[in-house]
Amino acid sequence: MLVIGLTGGIGSGKSTVAALFEKLGAPIIDADVIARQLTQPHQPAFTRIIEHFGDKLTQSDGSLNRRLLRQLIFADTTQRRWLESLLHPLIRECIQAQLNKLNAPYCLIVIPLLVETGAYPFLDRILVVDTLKEHQIARVAARDRLSVQDIHTLLQTQANRELRLSLADDVIHNDHDLTDLMPQVMRLHEQYAQNKTAPTTTK
Ligand code: ADP
Repeated sequence: MLVIGLTGGIGSGKSTVAALFEKLGAPIIDADVIARQLTQPHQPAFTRIIEHFGDKLTQSDGSLNRRLLRQLIFADTTQRRWLESLLHPLIRECIQAQLNKLNAPYCLIVIPLLVETGAYPFLDRILVVDTLKEHQIARVAARDRLSVQDIHTLLQTQANRELRLSLADDVIHNDHDLTDLMPQVMRLHEQYAQNKTAPTTTK
């Protein structure tokens, strides 16, 4: 099975693109979904996070206060790295376990911080969803109701476009309408389903 890592900056359109591949029947594994599962009460990562940051991170129903956790790591590189070094090896293990159960010509693994965290030895190709920074900012502002200043701070914690593109085997350009995405997805779907490894795709 061909294993594709799908990545891109925040608001680039990863989830939108993954949903289109899913419509075409591709199995999707999502690192963010796994991260949320690992941080449910009594899961290993949950326990470590509470030990590290203290009980202030538990809500009255016993669940993790994700909003407060995001605030704590937002502008604190040391804490963010601590959390990443806790979560990413666990996420990798879970991805590997899910991969072992799949039987398909190809599958996509959505890994938002693929370029930043690296070390995903099971990937055959990297697919980057690329868009202009202005579009990222406008889309995230509309989706998450964050201030432009906060989005800039977030973008600074992520790899820049050039670095991400330099690691891409395939690229989906998301600078236009949503309708522009499906033809690009279909082209790659056909390529991946036949397990062909063509050079980097351009529009
Ligand atoms: P990511 O998963 O990379 O953070 P999303 O797929 O969630 O990004 O897209 C961010 C937001 O922008 C979503 O609300 C999505 O519906 C919207 N969006 C994505 N692509 C486009 C586009 N080409 N035109 C308009 N809105 C878009």
